[in-house]
Amino acid sequence: MIFDISGILKTDGGELPIEINQLMEGLNAIADDLSFESPVKFKGSILNSGGVLKLKGKLSTLYKSKCSRCLNDVEAEINTDIKEDFFEEGKGEEEAYTYRGKYVELEKVFKDNIILNLPAKQVCRKECRGLCPYCGANLNEETCNCKNEEIDLRLEALGDFFKNQENN
Ligand SMILES: [Zn+2]
Ligand SMILES: [Zn+2]
Repeated sequence: MIFDISGILKTDGGELPIEINQLMEGLNAIADDLSFESPVKFKGSILNSGGVLKLKGKLSTLYKSKCSRCLNDVEAEINTDIKEDFFEEGKGEEEAYTYRGKYVELEKVFKDNIILNLPAKQVCRKECRGLCPYCGANLNEETCNCKNEEIDLRLEALGDFFKNQENN
């Protein structure tokens, strides 16, 4: 995703339209349970503002993940506005995005923005009830008796306790 910016570098205020529709396989390295099989789409522009390149536009892509509660497959979308500055190499702050010569590389800025927009915990839906921690039943699809049994076991233990008390 390298773009030739020589056309706008000479002119302050010069603007280069950017349109991307491309698979970014590097995204699959973000996490084991994420897969990016759809292209990353971006529509926007790069503006030369006194030698600082201002990238602006909309980015979207789809990815597959697993619900952190019920472990079902989830397909989710990222849809975000991007606004980032690129400085000529050696001129910006240390962590700033840079361009070198007449080329700017956009893959990293897209990857960073995608990571930033991933949820901390993916869920298939807000109301997902997840799996029973005792028997593994998917509580969206069935109910189980584990909670009741747990209470029964506790009562039983309590009963034994009193019995032992009586015997002593
Ligand atoms: Zn779920
Ligand atoms: Zn259960």
